[in-house]
Amino acid sequence: MHCPIRGFALVVLLACFGFGVAQAQPAIQPSVDITQVPAAAQPSAHFDADAATEAYMAMIPAAAKARSDAYFEGGYWLILWDFLYASAISLLLLFLQWSAGMRDLAVRMTRFKWLQTFIYWVEYLVVTTVLGFPLAFYEGYQREHQYGLATQSFGPWMGDQFKGLLVSLILGGIAVVGLFAIVRRLRNTWWIWGAVATMAFLVVTVAIGPVYLQPIFNTIHRLDDAKITGPILKMAHANGIATNDVYQIDASRQTTRMSANVSGFGQTMRITLNDNLLRRGSPEEIQAVMGHEMGHYVMNHIPKDMLFMLIVSVVSFAYLFWGLQWALKRWGGRWLIHDVGDPAVLPLATLLVGILFFVLTPVLNTQTRVEEKEADMFGLNAARQPDGFAQAAIHLGEYRKMRPGPLEEFIFFDHPSGYNRIHSAMVWKGENLELFENASAANAAQ
Ligand SMILES: [Zn+2]
Repeated sequence: MHCPIRGFALVVLLACFGFGVAQAQPAIQPSVDITQVPAAAQPSAHFDADAATEAYMAMIPAAAKARSDAYFEGGYWLILWDFLYASAISLLLLFLQWSAGMRDLAVRMTRFKWLQTFIYWVEYLVVTTVLGFPLAFYEGYQREHQYGLATQSFGPWMGDQFKGLLVSLILGGIAVVGLFAIVRRLRNTWWIWGAVATMAFLVVTVAIGPVYLQPIFNTIHRLDDAKITGPILKMAHANGIATNDVYQIDASRQTTRMSANVSGFGQTMRITLNDNLLRRGSPEEIQAVMGHEMGHYVMNHIPKDMLFMLIVSVVSFAYLFWGLQWALKRWGGRWLIHDVGDPAVLPLATLLVGILFFVLTPVLNTQTRVEEKEADMFGLNAARQPDGFAQAAIHLGEYRKMRPGPLEEFIFFDHPSGYNRIHSAMVWKGENLELFENASAANAAQ
């Protein structure tokens, strides 16, 4: 569930040609074949999960580890810079009275309240996108190229930014117009109805995502290689997933990352593999990853996420209900904004929600990480490919730190760390050694 919804700005576009194209660094390939099970992870009478995990960890070249650590740790700082940068933009719009000016312009253009709100939204989106562009460019383009994770040159990347901006314009416009209508009509209870409306909007967006939003950025089609789909569909049917389709997405258009996901809601819910995984992953690895994705599916993680988001949005709106009034009482005169139903209040709402989500970072990460751990365990049981699972953890380690400290993992990780994922797989293998001893005995007999 992620599409690159970021900004676009014609002015900055011209300025950015000065940067030139960042140097692309190819991925550092392991010097050993990671599909070969290391000696310490082979089934034996003295199989030890810790030693097997270390044997897999040792397959990652030191240079690759240093690079993915640097990339991932840089991401911790980006959480802070993103927060500070966005907050500064909001404060700028409020204290320079740009927000009030944008509202006045919208009021001069039409007498319809809803249309004023929409015009304000368009102005807000363009201004914040232009101001936010330098950081968005560094984070989404330059840095991705620097670490060998991006595949797009500047033109196509900008094209995606522009598409993202149009999606935000339409979907964000509907949301903002709807929410301000609720605030203006239900002066005392808008925080409840706002949360309910946000939730409904989220369900619709997630449901239309795989069918209408993802295809704007990528090509998606049914996977029809029976060698790959055969074992996957058997696993799906064995686990109560009544589908005959697995989807493939050309993620290599934007990135070298390997991944797969479950997306959609109700009728549109589906499992999608990306082409990097299909190209670089062994059959065991693909099955291990699919087992994990089926875990999300069978354990209803998307509906559970929605319920979690309902709680988060009730908390957010209650806090906004109080926070907006408090701030307007203090600074409304200086900002020329006096009412919570005035669209010019949007930068203040963005600022307040930004502070809340910044503080909630570990909570939101933990909610996701717990589900990811559940999906990992489901996947190990369903696919029975602990070595394929370890291979996947190594591949995902190209863009995630493999061995963080416990506190670091708690705060910043939305998936279990690579080390912990391999360790879970090796513990599972250690408790199911007979599956693998029989396989190696059969191989030896042939
Ligand atoms: Zn997952």
